Amino acid sequence: MSKILLCRDVGFDCDAICRGNTDEEILSQAAQHAQQEHGIQDLTDEIVNKVRGAIREE
Ligand SMILES: [Zn+2]
Repeated sequence: MSKILLCRDVGFDCDAICRGNTDEEILSQAAQHAQQEHGIQDLTDEIVNKVRGAIREE
């Protein structure tokens, strides 16, 4: 069972989707994506919590 995260669900106007088998995998992808696409250097606890809340089973 894989998990997905829609960037849009975290609050960005963005169609990117992160996929992974675990929350940690998705978080690391999301961190990279946020840095490259949204100029966010550090994921704050607030963002990490938002991301975790937005991850869903595919
Ligand atoms: Zn995005």
